Amino acid sequence: MPKRAKRKRGLLVVISGPSGVGKSTVVRRLFKVYPKLLMSISSTTRTPRPGEIHGQHYDFITQEEFDLRVKQHKFLEWAKVHGSYYGTPRQYIEDELKQGEVVVLEVDVQGASSVKRLVESGDLKASVVFIFLIPPSVDILAFRLKKRKTEDEEVVNYRLRAAIAELQVMEKYDYIVVNDKVESAADKIKAIINVEKERTLVN
Ligand code: 5GP
Repeated sequence: MPKRAKRKRGLLVVISGPSGVGKSTVVRRLFKVYPKLLMSISSTTRTPRPGEIHGQHYDFITQEEFDLRVKQHKFLEWAKVHGSYYGTPRQYIEDELKQGEVVVLEVDVQGASSVKRLVESGDLKASVVFIFLIPPSVDILAFRLKKRKTEDEEVVNYRLRAAIAELQVMEKYDYIVVNDKVESAADKIKAIINVEKERTLVN
C-alpha cells in the first residue's frame, strides 16, 4: 500500500505588482471565491483611511512601535512605501505554515523580493509562490512602444524604461496575472494556488 500523501508544510502565496494595479481589490475577491485562505494582516504606520478597521485591514501602529518591532525581528519583511512603513508579521506566518495552511501576502515589489531572498538563503523554509499582477495596459504599452514612433521621445523613453524595469522584476515571479477583470484575475490566482498546493504534497 502506498504511504498516504501528507502535506509537508503550508503554502505562502505572495501577491505583488506595481502600485495602483488593484492588488487589494483582486485579493478581496480572491477571499470571496476561496474563503479557506488565510490573510496576513500587515502592520503599518500609515493613518487609516475611512472605513478601514484596525486589525482587519491593517494593524495600525505608531512609528515608535514599528521601529521596536523591526529591532525585535518581528517582521518577516518590511518596507517603506509612499512614505509609510509596512511590515509582515513573522510569527503568524510561521505558525500557520507549520499547520499546513495557505497564507496570502499582499506586498509591494520590495516586500516580494525580500521574501524571495529569505527563501533563497534558506531562512524561510516554506513552499512559496510568487504572483505578479499587471494591468492590461502594460501589455498594450509594450506592444505600442514597439510599433509606433509618434510620441514625444522623452515620454516614450520614460515609459520604455518603466516597462523594462517592470518586465525585469516580473521575470523573478512564478506567475504573471493580467488584471483585466477583477473576477477573472481572482479566478486565475485561485487556479494557481490549487496547482501549487499539489506541489507541496510529499509521500
Ligand atoms: P496601501 O497603503 O494602499 O494599503 O498599500 C500601499 C502598498 O503597500 C501596496 O503596494 C501594498 O501591497 C503594500 N503593502 C501592504 N502591506 C505590506 C507589507 O506588509 N509589506 C510590504 N512590503 N508592502 C506592503
